[in-house]
Amino acid sequence: MKQLINCGLTYKWSVAYLLMFILPMGYMLFIIHMLVGEVEALQGPASVSRLSMLVGVPAAIVMSVSAFILVSRSTRQLTATSREAEKMIDEIIPERPKHETADMDEAQRISSYVTDMIGELRGKLMDMDRYAQDLKTANNKLVEIAVNDGLTGLYNHKHAMHTLQTELERAIRFSHPLSICMIDIDGFKNFNDSYGHQAGDKALARVGRIILDNIRNVDMAARYGGEEFMIIIPETMPIDTMEVAERVRSAVESAEFDSGDGRTVSVTVSIGVSAYMGLIVTPEELVASSDKNLYKAKRTGKNRVCLWTEGQVEIPVMGA
Ligand code: GH3
Ligand code: MG
Ligand code: MG
Repeated sequence: MKQLINCGLTYKWSVAYLLMFILPMGYMLFIIHMLVGEVEALQGPASVSRLSMLVGVPAAIVMSVSAFILVSRSTRQLTATSREAEKMIDEIIPERPKHETADMDEAQRISSYVTDMIGELRGKLMDMDRYAQDLKTANNKLVEIAVNDGLTGLYNHKHAMHTLQTELERAIRFSHPLSICMIDIDGFKNFNDSYGHQAGDKALARVGRIILDNIRNVDMAARYGGEEFMIIIPETMPIDTMEVAERVRSAVESAEFDSGDGRTVSVTVSIGVSAYMGLIVTPEELVASSDKNLYKAKRTGKNRVCLWTEGQVEIPVMGA
């Protein structure tokens, strides 16, 4: 590529032009001037022709030879550059359409190669853009698969626990409240047994949708596993979380679920609520707390919400 960028070429051709035309022209003018001067001084033309023979002819020969050497060196360099460019472009684009014809000179060929190379480069840049876009899409898809539950579209257990850890750290650091709800579908084994697993899967997805419809954008819903869901509710006191949980419970209770054979059936959920209220806890302890209360809700009749916080003896119960 170094030879392609030959900045000296214009300079060399200018010097050759000078040697071939301008200097001989100057010399001719000089001879004419001398001739006129000598005729005026009535001197014989012998001294003029002697001068032109002694100085002019060797000077003209030297200039022509120098110009010839300069031009032939530059031409050789141009030919070498053209060959190198041809080799280079054949390596880069082996099956390119050949635009150059036999009557093209070296400069035209190089220009044609450079044009082809720029075209190829543009194509490659566009390909790279496309690959980058595809990679980004595939990457987003991968992230989505890694954090989402395929059946319900909610976040998965792993991502929920990671988020809970982060939210709990933030709540402890800034002394803000943080609540979670553990939701379990009541008698879901019976549902599957009665209507089949396909209807069961649809019911799970529907419950997921109902949960999403009843929480804020800043809250996070996940399928914790099986027929259990978890909601992480930042910046919220347990009493307000009870209201969210009750809203979800009541929305599930009043929804009509498809049994798969044309009938509509009802589904209920039990919900356990727990909260970080200033006593240092781990995510696992918070989950265990809401689990405890969830099973309290199950034991006391299902389709209800129970709250449990550290140090609390009385357990408020909401629901049917
Ligand atoms: P409880 O009211 O005490 O929660 O009773 P349950 O029947 O809901 O609880 P159990 O733990 O006995 O059964 C849970 C059922 O949830 C059993 C399992 O077949 C069903 N289940 C778990 N994951 C899925 C799923 O992905 N699809 C379907 N269709 N069913 C599932
Ligand atoms: Mg369960
Ligand atoms: Mg259950």
